[in-house]
Amino acid sequence: FLSFYLERKLGLLRKRSQSTSALKKSIFSYLIVIDFESTCWREKNNYGQEIIEFPAVLLNTSSGEVESEFHTYVQPQEHPFLSEFCTELTGITQAQVEAGVPLQICLSRFNRWVQNLQLEKGVMFPNKQQPCSASSPSKKLCTFLTWSDWDLGVCLQYECKRKQLHKPDVLNSWIDLRSTYRLFYGRKPKGLNGALQDLGILFSGREHSGLDDARNTARLAARMMRDGCVLKITRSLERFCNYRLRDCFRRGKKILMGGLNI
Ligand code: AMP
Ligand code: MG
Ligand code: MG
Repeated sequence: FLSFYLERKLGLLRKRSQSTSALKKSIFSYLIVIDFESTCWREKNNYGQEIIEFPAVLLNTSSGEVESEFHTYVQPQEHPFLSEFCTELTGITQAQVEAGVPLQICLSRFNRWVQNLQLEKGVMFPNKQQPCSASSPSKKLCTFLTWSDWDLGVCLQYECKRKQLHKPDVLNSWIDLRSTYRLFYGRKPKGLNGALQDLGILFSGREHSGLDDARNTARLAARMMRDGCVLKITRSLERFCNYRLRDCFRRGKKILMGGLNI
């Protein structure tokens, strides 16, 4: 027991599993990492936040490489003028958002990008008809991944509701890498940058630039998989979650508390 304890303490067990089957264990062949930037203000207010930068990067989980990127600046319409604070934080200028497109157009371009991935790479999203376990070998399972639940559970969700836009169905479930990180390493990191730093990885590019945040989140996810972490869906907004989807899910209190019968 003592040697088991010591080995575990020294991280030897983790290294051992890493060298054997860490990469093979991945449920998903691909992950699409998203990181929105939105309107914001220095002072708290009740304004709804609107997406101003919509980046998505496709991570191949066996190579750890990004194979495709989607990137659009988005025009805010409820509060069309960016605050100075927002430009300072995100580096996004008024000219960039004005050259962008409204969210509705952005979403239809994003849908087209996702459809192309389905056609060209055989990417498939788990759903009630095609649960994780029943995927055919040529189909590559894929899901979304974000740092925290804010991007898909708050920001896009409420903006689509306010503007009565149809949110793409595929964006209804995702992996929250922040809670996964906390569980896997047993510590609470100081933001995405802190999470990378704790693993000896330097943040590359500009923090709070959506595309750089998404690329760095993808690097972090790849590193966690190499460390032996099996990434599973942590949140689903689907009203009826088929029990056959359960293999894609991390089982835990949070999911049960969310009222999902899995
Ligand atoms: P992030 O992905 O960390 O860059 O954050 C996404 C969005 O959250 C930003 O575009 C801002 O709208 C908001 N946000 C992030 N950090 C702050 C902050 N320190 N103060 C106010 N809003 C923030
Ligand atoms: Mg973010
Ligand atoms: Mg960001």
